[in-house]
Amino acid sequence: MTDLRLNNKTALITGASQGIGLEIAKLFAQHGADVILTDIQDEKGMYEAKSIGPRAHYHHLDVRSESDWKMITDHIIQDHKKLDIVVNNAGITGFLEHLGPQDPEHSSLDTWRAVLATNLDGVFLGCKYALSAMKRYKYGSIINISSRSGLVGIPGAAAYAASKAGVRNHTKTVALYALEKGYNIRCNSIHPAAILTPMWDPMLAEGSQREASLDAITKDIPMRKMGEALDVAYAALYLASDESKYVTGIELNVDGGILAGSAASPARKDHEL
Ligand code: NDP
Repeated sequence: MTDLRLNNKTALITGASQGIGLEIAKLFAQHGADVILTDIQDEKGMYEAKSIGPRAHYHHLDVRSESDWKMITDHIIQDHKKLDIVVNNAGITGFLEHLGPQDPEHSSLDTWRAVLATNLDGVFLGCKYALSAMKRYKYGSIINISSRSGLVGIPGAAAYAASKAGVRNHTKTVALYALEKGYNIRCNSIHPAAILTPMWDPMLAEGSQREASLDAITKDIPMRKMGEALDVAYAALYLASDESKYVTGIELNVDGGILAGSAASPARKDHEL
């Protein structure tokens, strides 16, 4: 038995130039995988792949582009002979991209479509090309990064929440489809919440107010702290490895306990019960 949980595996990770995707790439490489980091931030991605070491390579992949998906999967099969793991991680909230209001009343159709194009079309294409590359060897694990927002309504981020709900559901469709076809490809979703990455920058105050805005967020998290990208990476490592060989179609929450309850938690004043 080796300590390297992904020995001899080839993994493609989208949106891997920073945040959760980058941490997944680092952890997978530590566990013996050849990792292909992909993103639209090419300079950053190239730098990070080089820092990870010889097991890591960077390629441009805009998850919205079918021709990019075709090119990268053809390239991986040519160079690495097989593709074992795909992590569909790239996602946008629409806040950083200045797409205007995101609530269900004022969001424009263009805004709605822009968020869905990355978060849901991107995952659809990622699953499609993963299936076609992996079925040759009848082996694979697809991991889709959804969100807590895919399980509950988010009034200020309508398209984001809908896209992540779509990811959750599509994951189960892909899982069952692959079983029906006898492909031996598993597909699962991870549902992070409140993981401190650059995605949070537009939602946090700047300068001296940053700590105060972090405190305001953490007070609503049962664990009273935000998660780290590495917390999500370990969940992905489990789903990528053969340790989860009997696991498909699941949703794995990584959220400090947020989804365990609801905001309304009545307590007796005397605390005696
Ligand atoms: P980051 O914004 O830190 O990183 C996402 C990366 O994806 C960025 O490099 C981004 O580039 C890239 N990207 C954006 N659009 C595309 C595209 N079309 N094609 C390829 N790459 C693209 O996000 P996180 O690491 O925080 O999030 C990763 C995933 O986890 C996302 O799907 C997110 O929705 C999900 N998630 C995150 C949570 C959190 O609390 N952080 C909570 C729940 C879910 P650029 O910066 O140029 O846009």
